[in-house]
Amino acid sequence: MQQLWPRIQVLIKRQVNDRTWNQFFRHLVLSEYDNEQIVFQVPDAFFVTWFENHYLDYLSEVIRKATGKKREILLVARQPQGAEEAPGGEGPRHAAFQTSLPLSQGEGAQAGSGGLLTAPQPTDGLQGEVEDAARRSSARPASMTHEARVLEAGLNPRYTFDNFVVGSSNQFCDAACQAVAERPARVYNPLFLFGGVGLGKTHLLHAVGNCLLQNNPTLRVTYVTSEQFMNELIHSLRNKDTNSFRSKYRERCDVLLMDDIQFIAGKDSTQEEIFHTYNALHQAHRQIVITSDKMPHELPGLEERLSSRFGWGLIADIQPPEIETRMAIIKKKADVEDLLLDDEVVMFLATHIRTNVREIEGCLVRLKAYAALYKRPINVELVREQLKGVIREQNTQLTVDRIQRAVASFYNVKVKDLTGPRRHRAIAHPRHVAMYLSRQHTNFSFPDIGRFFGDRDHSTVMNAVSKIESLIETSDSFKTELRSLEKTVVA
Ligand code: ADP
Ligand code: MG
Repeated sequence: MQQLWPRIQVLIKRQVNDRTWNQFFRHLVLSEYDNEQIVFQVPDAFFVTWFENHYLDYLSEVIRKATGKKREILLVARQPQGAEEAPGGEGPRHAAFQTSLPLSQGEGAQAGSGGLLTAPQPTDGLQGEVEDAARRSSARPASMTHEARVLEAGLNPRYTFDNFVVGSSNQFCDAACQAVAERPARVYNPLFLFGGVGLGKTHLLHAVGNCLLQNNPTLRVTYVTSEQFMNELIHSLRNKDTNSFRSKYRERCDVLLMDDIQFIAGKDSTQEEIFHTYNALHQAHRQIVITSDKMPHELPGLEERLSSRFGWGLIADIQPPEIETRMAIIKKKADVEDLLLDDEVVMFLATHIRTNVREIEGCLVRLKAYAALYKRPINVELVREQLKGVIREQNTQLTVDRIQRAVASFYNVKVKDLTGPRRHRAIAHPRHVAMYLSRQHTNFSFPDIGRFFGDRDHSTVMNAVSKIESLIETSDSFKTELRSLEKTVVA
């Protein structure tokens, strides 16, 4: 097995996308095995839960195929080592997920028993820190209400963990944010969230702040966009009042939540100020959470000394939601808007609005206004008519539907066969090809694609993609056939 494992790793690497590989599978370490069981070590409890929820069947199947025998898979969280690292001169750590987490021994025990995803009680150390914070912020009137504190921190009380819909595209970020909100400056510092527009970064950042204030009312939380930060800096320079600006961000701040850091790219004096703010806070063990639309080192015009510091803690990315998550978000938002939508409409919206959650909200508001004004029930026709602009744009993209039709006609089978249950080779092969092309030419995830093929599991799609990849490597005639089919699809 020890020799076999590297070969299996190569196979897995070919089947999963780069992100899943880098964030998760890369960290699997084969630790023990016998005829019945395989034990894998993973960095912490978060990984255990992740693999158990998403890839246990897949792993078990890969092992069975490679060894000819089914074995029980056990995932064990590695003992975290050492206490929290002080920030220092050591080099940049750009890994998307660092393997040795800066936890203390006491915390390690918690992580091993499911720490990150449960709600660990504050350790003595943290309690002490919270008390410290209380002492430091004694200037604040004790009578201040929670609402006033939220407002003072610059937070939007509507953005909470409770109303954030979690799916596999954002689970990683959500869990990391919850961990930070439960144990500020103890788990990941800084926490750096990155992802496309409208995917929930700002929402999660506010959720961290709201949750922190809920649990520790005396904590001084500051939410600021990097643009606001720059404007305040300019203002303070003009008014020769940099001392109070610096004290606000370096001394009177226990948790700094900085949104949209990409804005400071190329703005040298703001970067200089953020550099010193960062150092002051990090050295004082204060939590920093940053959001961005790109990875730190991919931000053009961001100084290396800053991008490397942003990578000291955890970098977590947020991806466009899969169809299930989009459906759940639509339902949740419709609930909030008091909007009645039947399943068909929810499905229609989720299929057509794919990349930006903000767009979903815009559509719902528009539908609600229209339905109320014209007293018409919201059905698919109304949605289609009302959202022409948004939907037309999506239709120009290559859809799985179009791939299925092209593949069916190429192999002379029916689309219904591709999505149906038959497993005969004459059907299964075109189905695999269609799954492969869907993966290559659309942004859909494995679970999304499975859904388009008669609700098949994501591991079935992964297997199909790997089969076709092997065929491409071993058969030149198949490769030619596939390329000509591809041309008809992409044309
Ligand atoms: P970003 O900062 O990544 O551009 P936002 O946090 O501003 O995105 O999100 C845009 C809108 O979409 C917000 O109103 C937010 O509440 C909503 N949103 C995004 N993702 C989710 C989600 N998973 N669940 C609920 N609402 C979401
Ligand atoms: Mg934002």
